[in-house]
Amino acid sequence: MKVLVINCGSSSLKYQLFNMENQSVLAKGIVERIGLEGGMLKHQPANKDKVEISENIPNHKVAVKMMLDALLDKKHGVLENISEISAVGHRVAHGGEKFARPVLINDAILEGLKECIPLAPLHNPANVLGIEAVRQILPETPMAAIFDTAFHQTIPEHAYIYGIPYELYKKYSIRRYGFHGTSHRYVSMQVARFLGKPIEDLKIVTLHLGNGSSISAVKNGKSIENSMGFTPLEGIVMGTRCGSIDPSIVFFLMEKEGISLDKINDYLNKKCGVLGISGVSSDFRDLEDAAAAGNTRAKLALDVFAYQAKKYIGSYAAAMNGLDAIVFTGGIGENSISIRRMICDEMDYFGIKIDDAKNNVRGKEADISADGSKTRVLVIPTNEELMIALDTVSLI
Ligand code: ADP
Repeated sequence: MKVLVINCGSSSLKYQLFNMENQSVLAKGIVERIGLEGGMLKHQPANKDKVEISENIPNHKVAVKMMLDALLDKKHGVLENISEISAVGHRVAHGGEKFARPVLINDAILEGLKECIPLAPLHNPANVLGIEAVRQILPETPMAAIFDTAFHQTIPEHAYIYGIPYELYKKYSIRRYGFHGTSHRYVSMQVARFLGKPIEDLKIVTLHLGNGSSISAVKNGKSIENSMGFTPLEGIVMGTRCGSIDPSIVFFLMEKEGISLDKINDYLNKKCGVLGISGVSSDFRDLEDAAAAGNTRAKLALDVFAYQAKKYIGSYAAAMNGLDAIVFTGGIGENSISIRRMICDEMDYFGIKIDDAKNNVRGKEADISADGSKTRVLVIPTNEELMIALDTVSLI
């Protein structure tokens, strides 16, 4: 069975085609700059040369056509016939309180997805556009929506309610949702497999650290906390996002810096975080290089990031009344030896000790705990696309 996974942004469409018999990737690619000048498709088939095609791509329907043409191409393609695609799984950013699990898409579900647009105005419209475009071109193919928020719908009320009037939660659905759910679910399942224990018996903190970072408490296989909140702006400081700050800072900044209401959200999402603290970069490789060369603000940005992550581990151990394992994933979690070291430093009270030799690993599954560490510390590369493909298969 072949399953196509699509992650559609406002101007890009990423795809991976899986052979589910052995969970291998047959081809993957990205259509970039949809609706902008300089459109481009980059297609990488397994065991064949990659191809890049530059042409104007006016909308998502044209992008979907380009992707399917590349998959069917005599030279670079991996399909003889489009009917070989058994199902399509779409990543959807926000499922609100409506969607607590993946769903097969039909007209009613599509309406439900549109109702979630006010909760994620930057992401959900593009997801819906992608679904509609694929539906027009492949009307007979079953399609599933897999939500970034769904795994976190088990977060209990006392953890998702903010200190604002309850009526406003009811009126506008203002609450903690949590994000990166597909990744947190995938790596927590992999932790259970790695440790050879049932997930129902484990208390795990999952650290998805990338351009966007979120941390989850996964107790007995269920998410009970996530550091991101109503939007992916809350939580640990990120590449360019401020993370949790005193809300009064927002009004102070608007007044003192003359930032208008329509600009402030963009400012907090794109100009802050470790980029803002360091003045160097949002990329942790640049920050590590700059810190090593003596740049004190780059070092400060790394210190702030690691300290905040450490505090989440402590608070989630308290929330779960225990901790069996922590797992690092995402671009930073999988690759940054020094960030993992900094986060796990002086955590022996929580039973966390890492072995520097074992921690000397990038981008692959590893147990980096020191001998005698009560809490196991793992590195597990995330695979959200595979998780989406597996969910899609279960649904059909
Ligand atoms: P996204 O949230 O966009 O999916 P990723 O999970 O791919 O992001 O993470 C991207 C980030 O991972 C980069 O910005 C960079 O900071 C970090 N990163 C990747 N490789 C390394 C590395 N070798 N050392 C330190 N940081 C790395």
